[in-house]
Amino acid sequence: MRGKHDRTVLERIDALFSRAEKLAETSPANSRRCVELAIKNAMRYNVTVPKRYRMSYCRKCHSYLKPGISSVHRTSQKQQALIITCRECGSVMRFPYRKEKSQKKKSQKTSSPRKIGPRRKKR
Ligand SMILES: [Zn+2]
Repeated sequence: MRGKHDRTVLERIDALFSRAEKLAETSPANSRRCVELAIKNAMRYNVTVPKRYRMSYCRKCHSYLKPGISSVHRTSQKQQALIITCRECGSVMRFPYRKEKSQKKKSQKTSSPRKIGPRRKKR
């Protein structure tokens, strides 16, 4: 019973997000309304918004993020992350693209700070 319910909710979320994408250019207000409805539907039926949509809406103002139109997508080598800036409200979201988080932590702990270049002997 619950599985069936989940599927219809997910279909509705899919439809709302695709409509939001179409409306992002022409009418941002309606597109935002679609995203809000999709989030509300997900919350009402206790369903998580699919991962593929996590980067496609602003978490602050719920506007649909379309690169070049309603948002700026950049990658930062220093932060190892995709940085999305919302043009509607100016909020910045970070999505790290390093998946092996635990491995990174381990390597940071074990590796000692290394000096680059040959060491000079003290006289
Ligand atoms: Zn925003």
